Amino acid sequence: MGFSTTAIHAGNEPDVATGAVSVPIYQTSTYAQESLGKHKGFEYARTQNPTRSALERNIAALENAQFGFAFASGMAAIDAVLKLVKAGDHAILGDNTYGGTYRLFAKVLSNYGVEFDLADTTKTEDLESFFKPNTKMVFVETPTNPVMSVTDLAAVSKLAHERGSKVVCDNTFMSPYFQRPIEHGVDIVVHSTTKYLNGHSDSVGGFVALNDEKDAEWIKFVQNSIGAILSPFDSFLVLRGTKTLAVRMEAHDRNGRVVANFLAEHPKVQKVYYPGLVSHPQHELASRQQTGFGGMVSFETGSLDNAKTVLQNVKLCTLGESLGGVETLISHPASMTHASVPEETRAKLGITEGLVRISVGIEDVEDIVADLDNALG
Ligand SMILES: *Cc1c(COP(=O)(O)O)cnc(C)c1O
Repeated sequence: MGFSTTAIHAGNEPDVATGAVSVPIYQTSTYAQESLGKHKGFEYARTQNPTRSALERNIAALENAQFGFAFASGMAAIDAVLKLVKAGDHAILGDNTYGGTYRLFAKVLSNYGVEFDLADTTKTEDLESFFKPNTKMVFVETPTNPVMSVTDLAAVSKLAHERGSKVVCDNTFMSPYFQRPIEHGVDIVVHSTTKYLNGHSDSVGGFVALNDEKDAEWIKFVQNSIGAILSPFDSFLVLRGTKTLAVRMEAHDRNGRVVANFLAEHPKVQKVYYPGLVSHPQHELASRQQTGFGGMVSFETGSLDNAKTVLQNVKLCTLGESLGGVETLISHPASMTHASVPEETRAKLGITEGLVRISVGIEDVEDIVADLDNALG
């Protein structure tokens, strides 16, 4: 079945009790049991909820995974995956992940006896030297946030598997519509459903998708033991969001390309980061690994003052953190999303004071371009 058909139908079978075409919000904490030990598969809503199960089947299918688990946030999903490593293990973390992911490794996981090293996972040829005998996990994000560097998922997976390590990929930026990491050899996919999967800037959530049965059992156990579950209402919202994922991603991609090309030709813009531009150093890899480039574009204005001018003069683009919604959002990574990343690391990655990031929405693109043109002018 095609992607859109799966998005609309997987997990969305008409409700068994009533025939409701849209999966109802099962807003309940517990379920009546027929007799001692006899129930309908639902005992307590932290453990099982029909709305959440529907979403779990839906996104798992979109990622071509057998198992899926929905969490209260992207960070909760990532934290659950990190429960697969134990004290004494070593992990390799991409050096340009979402700031919160770096913070979770550096400030939380490190307190529990797990060692990690930061590596530029975009340079597969250098990655080998980071592996240790106790390396159990490689965590990558591609394209990265906010400088859009691309990691070769097939190459990293091969390298890691030969060394007994699992590979986790944060697929938030592409969504399964443009990139399905499991098809490239990745073991576990994580998402912040807050972004493109929900797509309407009105829910915070996370997701884990995977095929290994033993690891899936553990993630399910962790989900129930720690309890950072996605609520029935948020599950409903994300389930509603994924029905239009294909059409939204096509629109984000179309607009993203126009905005990136406009910025690339603008005299006040020094550099544009967008894997869809032929000038992007990994354009070829991105074209092979992804089926589109999406709506995330960053650009260098040259200074904090220039960045401020743009951010203060936009009218249509909304200044704010987050991304992946239908409306265009604009942000300043150095002081907003990546404030928790040490300054010297930021400098090394190109997250300068002059860098501006746009999550290009699905408004009429000429309006977005006119707004940016005016703000840059
Ligand atoms: C937002 C985001 C996260 C964190 O997700 P939350 O839902 O905010 O907890 C993780 N990874 C990436 C790439 C993100 O953009």
